[in-house]
Amino acid sequence: MKLVYTVKELCRVCYTCVRECPAKAIRIINGQAEVMSERCIGCGNCIKVCSQEAKVFYQSRLDVKNILQSEHKVAAIIAPSFPAEFTDIKDYRKFVGMVRALGFDYVFEVAFGADLVAKKYKELLEERSGKNYISSDCPAIVSYIRYYHPTLVKNLAPVVSPMVVMARVVKKKLDKDVKIVFVGPCIAKKAESEEVDEVLTFRELRGMFELSELKPELVEASEFDPPHAGRGAIFPVSRGLIQTVNIFDDVVEGNVIVAEGRIGFQEAIKEFEANSLKGQNLELLCCEGCIMGPGMTPGGKRFERRTYISSYVQQRMTPEHLAEWKSSFEEFCDIDTAKEFQPSDRRKPLPSESEVHKILVSMGKFSNRDHLNCGACGYDTCLEHAIAIVEGLAEVEMCLPYTIEEMHASLKDLAISNEKLAKVQQALKQSEKLAHMGQLSAGIAHELNNPLGVVMMYSNILLDEYPPDDPIRQDIELIASQAERCKKIVSGLLNFARKNQVKLEVINLKKLAEDSIKSVVVPKNVKAVVVCNLGDCEAQLDYEQMMQVLTNLNKNAIEAMPTGGILTVEVGGTDKEVIFNVKDTGTGIPDENMDKLYTPFFTTKGIGKGTGLGLATTYGIVKMHKGRIEVESNNDRFKGPTGTTFRIIIPREEGEADECLE
Ligand code: SF4
Ligand code: SF4
Repeated sequence: MKLVYTVKELCRVCYTCVRECPAKAIRIINGQAEVMSERCIGCGNCIKVCSQEAKVFYQSRLDVKNILQSEHKVAAIIAPSFPAEFTDIKDYRKFVGMVRALGFDYVFEVAFGADLVAKKYKELLEERSGKNYISSDCPAIVSYIRYYHPTLVKNLAPVVSPMVVMARVVKKKLDKDVKIVFVGPCIAKKAESEEVDEVLTFRELRGMFELSELKPELVEASEFDPPHAGRGAIFPVSRGLIQTVNIFDDVVEGNVIVAEGRIGFQEAIKEFEANSLKGQNLELLCCEGCIMGPGMTPGGKRFERRTYISSYVQQRMTPEHLAEWKSSFEEFCDIDTAKEFQPSDRRKPLPSESEVHKILVSMGKFSNRDHLNCGACGYDTCLEHAIAIVEGLAEVEMCLPYTIEEMHASLKDLAISNEKLAKVQQALKQSEKLAHMGQLSAGIAHELNNPLGVVMMYSNILLDEYPPDDPIRQDIELIASQAERCKKIVSGLLNFARKNQVKLEVINLKKLAEDSIKSVVVPKNVKAVVVCNLGDCEAQLDYEQMMQVLTNLNKNAIEAMPTGGILTVEVGGTDKEVIFNVKDTGTGIPDENMDKLYTPFFTTKGIGKGTGLGLATTYGIVKMHKGRIEVESNNDRFKGPTGTTFRIIIPREEGEADECLE
């Protein structure tokens, strides 16, 4: 039977239930807390702690309704903790009346079964056989020992629970065909015994009252069916077993250690198993008394609930009642209370050290110092968490410090990617803009080329026709020289539009860089340096065009250093690409000009001092070589040294071109 399960939609994966589960029966799989029925002991801790109400238990109301509608007589046997749950019903007889009104033919107190069980415990404890016992009245504890401490099964008191004894009493009193429904505070009871037909929790019973609109004022007060309970009514509180047994002499009480709650019972079992509790018996409860069971309405206060139980017991312990109880007790004291428990080992074999180590390393835990043992994952230590991961019960992501670190790293990566993406987008925009301009420039250059050729041809013919001393010759020379200038501009535009031919040849890159420095006038206050970091200095490039690129960049660099500085032409790269860095220590480029650098006719130089085609031509030539051009510049001395670096990246082989950014 699947006692407890998760409502996936409600689970927020906080690992609280993992932490509170003594059986480690909850695994996190794909970010969901899933109960493994075969490991679950039905303690209900996970239900009690889940603030999201994502953990729920099997509901038996429909099954009970079916039994009530059958032809069988049905007896409800009510756990002794009922006064702590139905505090709103002042007279317990009204409560009994309401249960009868639901259709139950009989209503009995399980506390009478507790009296019979207590008698058996008393005998065991007084036997002094040298054997130490663990109480077996809490089904969650019994399952815990059978599954996870099977060697202690022999120490479980060989006694059935009060619920089962009471079922036997009812069957003896009525007949064997009577159907029995236990009603109590416990979920584990639902899977405890086949001698009981169905198990309802008090919460479920409350739901049935509400559904049937049953209220105390609407029903007749009614007494429980006999046999009535004695001190067994005190059973559901902490130390209830000892009090029911009524053993108060120091010797015996001193032989019983009472432990309850998730931490308490586990510690007691560990110490008992380690033999450090010499001569002690254990009374164990999974909850802090059955009055705090998961089948009770949540939110009740423990000590307040105790007082409800005490007042109920006091109310019932009249001399007449005790006399009646005594005779019933004698009538049923021969009921068989024996029970033999069998181990059902569900421990997982411990994984190897290397497997655990591998997982720890994957969570960034390389040494003991990295074991924070913070418990955020739901496990007490990092080691336990790692073991659970190997066993398939947990996931690495449950480690909060690791996940936070990973998240920070991802955020950092994301920020870097975003930055790169923004740069690429910017470059793409720029590239598109320049491509459009290139088309326009190519068109203009093409249209100008023919008339310009005619002007140049005829001006040269005229020059040949006029003698050197002819005054008109000066005008013709001016026409020829300006036409020549126009031709250079047209050639620049064609370069920008990538319409010129690239003549690839094997060239020495270091020599190219040195020649580029020689081709410009370097003022005295500027130091020009060539640095070559390449082993293989040869590559296939168009010497003339690349010379033009470097010369343009060198000129710009020198002009950016009117008060002097250093011009460095650095040659580097890999076996796939060649990189030229042209660096200056000049004034830097203002941010607002960065987008316009390669736009034809954009210049910051004075009128007549530049065509504004230098960088446009450079850009076109680099593109014709299927390369790319990047620029970094700082013009703010408060941010660091000012200056500009142009980086030209050209693939060594034509085939590498596709990897380059257009
Ligand atoms: S306690 Fe468990 S079931 Fe509830 S939200 Fe947290 S992880 Fe989910
Ligand atoms: S009922 Fe208990 S054993 Fe079962 S999953 Fe919940 S906490 Fe674990």
